[in-house]
Amino acid sequence: MNFYSLNKQAPEVSFKEAVLKGLASDKGLYFPTSIKPLPNSFFESIGDLSYEEIAFEAIHQFVTAEISNEDLKRIISETLSFDFPVVTLDKNISSLELFHGPTMAFKDVGARFMSRCLRLFHSEQKNDITVLVATSGDTGGAVANGFLGVKGVKVVILYPKDKVSKVQEKQLTTLGQNITALEVDGFFDDCQDMVKKAFLDRQITDHIQLTSANSINVARWLPQMFYFFFAYKQLYKNHKKIVFSVPSGNFGNICAGLMAQKLGLPIHHFIAANNTNQVVTDYLETENYQPKPTVQTISNAMDVGNPSNFIRIQELFKNEFSNLKAHLSSSSFSDSSTVEGIKELYSDYNYIADPHGAIGFLAAKEYQQKYPDTHCVFLETAHPSKFLETVEKAIDTKVELPSQIKAVINKEKKSIKISTYDELKSILLN
Ligand SMILES: *Cc1c(COP(=O)(O)O)cnc(C)c1O
Repeated sequence: MNFYSLNKQAPEVSFKEAVLKGLASDKGLYFPTSIKPLPNSFFESIGDLSYEEIAFEAIHQFVTAEISNEDLKRIISETLSFDFPVVTLDKNISSLELFHGPTMAFKDVGARFMSRCLRLFHSEQKNDITVLVATSGDTGGAVANGFLGVKGVKVVILYPKDKVSKVQEKQLTTLGQNITALEVDGFFDDCQDMVKKAFLDRQITDHIQLTSANSINVARWLPQMFYFFFAYKQLYKNHKKIVFSVPSGNFGNICAGLMAQKLGLPIHHFIAANNTNQVVTDYLETENYQPKPTVQTISNAMDVGNPSNFIRIQELFKNEFSNLKAHLSSSSFSDSSTVEGIKELYSDYNYIADPHGAIGFLAAKEYQQKYPDTHCVFLETAHPSKFLETVEKAIDTKVELPSQIKAVINKEKKSIKISTYDELKSILLN
């Protein structure tokens, strides 16, 4: 399968090249040249297939020719070493828990899949690869963990000082080995700007091979389709109109869900659940796409003022606004509503959710007031203990720390403090 740049000013590339480059030379995001729906027989028998078999069918067409079936099966099996349970809260609302991986956020699957692709591709070439990534919290930990100890790959993570949670900071600063954490005196947007600048800096790119592990990378984006298939497998026998409410920031996850639908997965509708960074909510109302500066919220992984993957969603719907609107709704919630959502989930369902999942829940409930005959699944994208202070305060109860978190919380933090681009550059070149 080839991939083209959505800016249409760069040549088509193979899956391998798209993964190694991250972004096309014209700065466009890569998109597959064709999307072939899966056969009906697959959906009819999905209840009898294992997660690994389902994942193989879902992603096979996009990676074939570059990755042998045998390698793909191994990569999938190493990636999916934990569960993806649907927890039913009442007869028409469920939570899809995506936090059972090593760093307890849904980004583990994409990061683990991508690191294994890079390891495979690296073994076919000589040069080391440097993965450069900016994080607002969860990406850093998932990428650090997914790439830890991978030969020939160095990882450099930029995160904004004092703006990620304690647990998130520990997850990305305590691993060592091939992982370097840079603590940037600034906001997430400053980290992202430095990363973008490095990708355009010939003095760097002439010397080292850089790639990105943000959701713009196809190897991180596409495996996120798996979740929607896995939830469908668990729900389809009892529910007809399945709707997903996806807490969204950079819109990679929901875009993967829309891809799954394009492959034929019978999903009734999608809801993009947002915090006050609501450029897409506004767009669906006004047809006017207006990026805004980022606003800081308690659901920090969704603090994105200009979601990178939205352009892929536009492409999926051939830029037809009415078609997009028929498949996708969006609503936005303030921090105080988010806290109310966490409280309500706890008091009404005895369910402890993190702030992102709580927004997914609120958006699902709002949708169901209009469409009560649907079954809404909100994605619980992170474990509540990753946002311990917010959650414990909201429910006035202690949250039990899972073993994955206990394992890092007392480890020693190791980071390099930087405040300028030149400091980043000298670290990369040494
Ligand atoms: C990254 C993240 C999101 C947003 O996902 P996108 O793919 O960027 O839309 C939501 N919740 C959590 C917990 C995350 O880490």
